[in-house]
Amino acid sequence: MDQITPVNLAYDALAAAREVAVSARINADAQDRDDGFPASDVADLARLGLLAAPIPVREGGAGLGEEPGGAKLAEVLRLVGYGSLALGRLYEGHVNALHLVALYGDAGQRERLFEDARSGHLFGVWNTERAGGGLVLEGGPDGLHLRGAKTFASGAGHVTRALVTAHRANADGPVMLVVPLRAGTRADLSDWRAHGMRASATGTVDFTDLPVTDDAILGEPGDYHRQPVFSGGAWRFAAVQLGGIEAVFDAWREHLTRHGRGGDPHQLARLGEGALAVEGARNWIARGAATVTQGTLPSGRLIACINLVRLAVERAGLDVLQLAQRSVGLQGFLRGHPLERLSRDLATYLRQPAPDGALVGAAEEILAAGGMAGDLWHGGGP
Ligand SMILES: Cc1cc2nc3c(=O)[nH]c(=O)nc-3n(C[C@H](O)[C@H](O)[C@H](O)COP(=O)(O)OP(=O)(O)OC[C@H]3O[C@@H](n4cnc5c(N)ncnc54)[C@H](O)[C@@H]3O)c2cc1C
Repeated sequence: MDQITPVNLAYDALAAAREVAVSARINADAQDRDDGFPASDVADLARLGLLAAPIPVREGGAGLGEEPGGAKLAEVLRLVGYGSLALGRLYEGHVNALHLVALYGDAGQRERLFEDARSGHLFGVWNTERAGGGLVLEGGPDGLHLRGAKTFASGAGHVTRALVTAHRANADGPVMLVVPLRAGTRADLSDWRAHGMRASATGTVDFTDLPVTDDAILGEPGDYHRQPVFSGGAWRFAAVQLGGIEAVFDAWREHLTRHGRGGDPHQLARLGEGALAVEGARNWIARGAATVTQGTLPSGRLIACINLVRLAVERAGLDVLQLAQRSVGLQGFLRGHPLERLSRDLATYLRQPAPDGALVGAAEEILAAGGMAGDLWHGGGP
């Protein structure tokens, strides 16, 4: 089948995401291996136009994420995450990369890199590195090259357009660059012996001696961490997490029905608590997506809001995991039970950077804000 290239807003990203979610869900158990990767699902993302969908409308794309309130992108991320959290992680990285290209790329970079997305290249955003051993961009007699490695890089060995941060002597912050990689090169998955998210291929990628041309560099040094874009983007991984929470919830609900245990009041009470957590997370995502896309809150307030989105969704995920495991019992820990892998994937993907700092930072902003609590997020509502 020919690849679908979205050219306008008539493109139905939600229908595409639903189709991907159905097959990804079927494929996910077989990919749950240390060297697993959802290759056929990524091919579906390309075939159904979702790899190209985040290209802005002004660049001839479908502009997924530019719609009012970010509602469509939130749904797409949730649906893909529902099908497979590993696939959702990969897709979120791709969306993030295209977003950064749109924001910081010059006209030539945007044209070239969006064309790469249209032709099926999977992008990733790799920022994490070992303390004291990160990626360096340096000059030599033959021009620029990279030295060092990135860790916890999802899609290692599969991503063919990597947006990375690198340190450069005398630069005012890390530089951001997009480098082409050949599939199957420079990646080491030997440390990725993970509890869950095995199929995300989250490994180490060594860039040493990779030549870099000037036109690989996006924006100015420090742009990658520029606020509120840097922290504000966290609502997107939370939207993927919501899909994983719903998948756990559905596996739990299905178990109660199949085993005739749904009539018990304790089981019903737990299920009700779970439904509250899921819906709460969904509302927080809507709030976060709308707040970021409207862009009407001042930077500090917007970051506080998104930090709360992150933590509320994490809390909902932890609650649903605990409730589901208590309700289903030992069966849910046996390989082959749907809850087993779904729980491992969710528990692993809920681990995101500096949750304590996110909570305390949000609380500091709220304390300093004064006024009425109901007005804290005024102007950033769905
Ligand atoms: C499946 C998966 C895929 C990923 N893919 C990518 C990717 O493609 N690209 C990428 O760049 N990264 C990726 N990451 C890494 C991710 O961005 C984070 O680096 C990682 O999830 C951080 O988790 P952590 O629990 O180690 O966080 P930490 O920040 O180390 O938090 C652990 C605990 O320590 C606390 N803490 C944090 N800082 C301090 C401190 N200074 N002092 C005391 N306590 C502290 C936290 O509050 C928390 O309680 C991925 C992660 C996962 C789980």
